[in-house]
Amino acid sequence: MPPVSQQPPTYSVELFPPKTPEGMEKLKREIAQLNSVSPGYFSVTYGAGGSTRERTFETVDWLRGHAIETAPHIACVGSARAEIREIVGRYREQGIRRLVALRGDLPSGMGGGTGGDFRYANELVSFIREEFGDTFKIEVAAYPEYHPQSGSPERDLANFKRKVEAGADAAITQYFYNPDAYFAFIESCDRVGVTLPIIPGIMPITNYTQLARFSDACGAEIPRWVRRRLEGYGDDVESLRDFGHEVVLNLCRRLIDGGAPGLHFYTMNQSGPTLRLWRDLALPLPA
Ligand code: FAD
Repeated sequence: MPPVSQQPPTYSVELFPPKTPEGMEKLKREIAQLNSVSPGYFSVTYGAGGSTRERTFETVDWLRGHAIETAPHIACVGSARAEIREIVGRYREQGIRRLVALRGDLPSGMGGGTGGDFRYANELVSFIREEFGDTFKIEVAAYPEYHPQSGSPERDLANFKRKVEAGADAAITQYFYNPDAYFAFIESCDRVGVTLPIIPGIMPITNYTQLARFSDACGAEIPRWVRRRLEGYGDDVESLRDFGHEVVLNLCRRLIDGGAPGLHFYTMNQSGPTLRLWRDLALPLPA
């Protein structure tokens, strides 16, 4: 049975905070393009251990300053409670009402252990609920192909459930290219009584080398036939992008037709590939 959502679907986009002032200027232009289709919200990533803290604030401040619905990410590993309290308090003062709560992965060079006061995302969700009640809608991460560090699918599912019971309102998935993985995950969640909206995370395909590197690191599978075709395009960027677009377009269609409660686009700070999908999927446009 496809999942049945009670709420209208949410179509959101994700950005990362740029490293340089030039990158920030470029991002503002990309945001203007993306905002032309009025995404449900813009989420902004946060480097675990505070590695992008000020740059995340700068991006969030700019979005809020332009009255754009914003969902900052918070990654708790390596952080103290006081620091998280201060960051979340700052967002509350800014009128932000949505957060993406994560454990995060400490960047290499910041120590192998977890450090800080939090080990897992469920502890962060509990902390935000204890300190800030229902001020925020909280999204957490989900892994249809399972988290690379999880001992087994069952344990990963039990840990996901723990995070949901700590007070998450919805989840966004790691990206994947096999829709069956998503639907099987939804069924497993249903079986253990986890029924919150689980929004597929969608990664447009524009650069094979980068995608292969990310996918190896985060445990997302690129189907062999897609990998082979992408490899085969070599330097022919246009053909690679056209093929990548068709693959992701078909994926999104199957997800929507199967009842997915929205889509979350990992834009990689480029508006073009996401807008092309948005248009070809005939997703909602502002009136
Ligand atoms: P958790 O839910 O804590 O899970 C991590 C691992 O620990 C899993 O294997 C899980 O099974 C296990 N586990 C969980 N709870 C327990 C428990 N109580 N006891 C034992 N084991 C447990 N990273 C960033 O640094 N910044 C970002 O902005 C960011 N944004 C993201 C957005 C999305 C939508 C997604 C899908 C990922 C994002 N990530 C981000 C990456 C994420 O931080 C990593 O995937 C990280 O390894 C896990 O984070 P989590 O919140 O899913 O962790």
